[in-house]
Amino acid sequence: MALLRVTIWNEFFHEIEDPIARGHYPQGIHEQLRQALAADDLEIRTAWLEKDAEHGLSEEVLSQTDVLLWWGHCRHGDVRDDVADRVVDYVNRGMGFIPLHSAHRSKPFRRLMGTSCMLRWRADEDRGDRCIVWNVNPNHPITQGVPLHFTLEQEEMYGELFFIPQPEELVFLSWFEGGNVFRGGCTFTRGIGKIFYFHPGHEMFPSYYNENVLRVIANAIRWAAPPEARELNAGRYMDPVV
Ligand code: ZN
Repeated sequence: MALLRVTIWNEFFHEIEDPIARGHYPQGIHEQLRQALAADDLEIRTAWLEKDAEHGLSEEVLSQTDVLLWWGHCRHGDVRDDVADRVVDYVNRGMGFIPLHSAHRSKPFRRLMGTSCMLRWRADEDRGDRCIVWNVNPNHPITQGVPLHFTLEQEEMYGELFFIPQPEELVFLSWFEGGNVFRGGCTFTRGIGKIFYFHPGHEMFPSYYNENVLRVIANAIRWAAPPEARELNAGRYMDPVV
């Protein structure tokens, strides 16, 4: 069986600079996700902002990536425009894209959405909000094996309004103890590429150790992969239609 080729991209800043974030993710969020998502059908590599001049996202890497995960927060502006455009181009041609948490403001996601992607937030670093993630699409491939709701005891509040285009599918709707709700799991298609935004993952809390969060991301990788990837695994991208 051909492997799905996954690249996990991380800004990798807070886990170096902040002792709390480093405590949760001593080797970086990307490394925790790489280890937690490891599976026989996946070939996972990691990349980060300062890995090399192209943030570890060269043409060669993206041409060998079926699904790209993206975590970024305070250094979105340091991502090279040409690299962000390259990611957008690959998504349009079929690469799956999974922006996580504060990647809602990343250059590739904003360019793919065409809106500001702003939202309300509340980050009490000592405590956060208790969050109930409601599975509102239990027949969706991304929710297989995921209960109808699960609780994150601590998560950054992300709330409406969330300035995204109307999602094609709403998969999760999250509630926060402060009263806010948030379209926290949404799908989009751009070109022939499938996109899934998922909100958990504030760096000050250990959300990427939660089994349901990890199950969702694992399912999303299989869902977002271009369908022919398993059979062809190379040279599958169509030229863009002009
Ligand atoms: Zn955050």
